[in-house]
Parts: sequence; C-alpha cells; structure tokens
Amino acid sequence: MRIGMGYDIHRLVTGRKLILGGVTIPYKKGLLGHSDADVLVHALCDALLGAIGLGDIGTHFPDTSSEFKDISSMIILSRTWDMVWDRGFSLENADATILAEQPKLAQYRTAMRQNIAGVMNVAPHCINIKATTTEKLGMFGRGEGVGAMCVVLLS
Ligand code: MG
Repeated sequence: MRIGMGYDIHRLVTGRKLILGGVTIPYKKGLLGHSDADVLVHALCDALLGAIGLGDIGTHFPDTSSEFKDISSMIILSRTWDMVWDRGFSLENADATILAEQPKLAQYRTAMRQNIAGVMNVAPHCINIKATTTEKLGMFGRGEGVGAMCVVLLS
C-alpha cells in the first residue's frame, strides 16, 4: 500500500474558463495557470506522484515548457497515471475536496468523477469528489482563488 496527498491553488481571474475535473463550468471567472489550471486534477496528480515517490507535478510538467502551455490537465493526469501503472500500482481510492466560495459545484461532481475515472480506467466509486466553501473566510472565501486537496491510496 502507498498513500499520497496533493494540494493546489489557482487564482480566479476574468477571461479564463473554469475547468474542474475536466468539466467546463459556467462562471464569470476562470483559473489562471500555464495549463488549463484544473486545480482538482493537479491535486490528484500530486497525490499520485507522492504515493509513488516521484516528486511533484511541477517537476514532470514544468510551467516553463511550451509543451504544456494551455494543455488539458486530463492529459497531465493520463501521463501521470501511466507512471503509476507502469510501476505496477493500481488505485484503491482517491478522495478530494475542492475549496471554493462560488460557484456551487455539486451538480458537476458526477461528471468530474466520470472524467477522472475514465482517464484512470477505474470504477467511478473509486473517485470521491467533495466541495466546500470556507464560510466566506480567507482567500477562498473572498473568491480570490480555488483550492483542492486530494489523498490517494495505491496498492
Ligand atoms: Mg496547479
């Protein structure tokens, strides 16, 4: 068994799409980043890399590389998952929490879960996605950004 955790934050800005778990969510702002800034998928990738002792997402997919400019984070997840699978591991489960004051995300969780499970070729019940506000406190509460935390268990 190997456990891993990941945490990521991206800034909310105008003029960008809001993409979480590979789902484009209608909102007045989106997340700023070198890739599509899918903070949920980045936290998941960091958790996977952590579990297999392979550093972090920035090491493997540097934001200085034009190869990863505006790339879908689902491609980053696919490549990260290949590294896990190639080392003989499979996923027991992943559990993630998105931190966002707005927009409400509950109606998109099923689609996010299906996207992620599809890329990793696991059953959707292995992927749990939660969302919470921070009761208007702090940077998330002020709507300055969106955060995500994720833990994974591999066997
Ligand atoms: Mg990130």
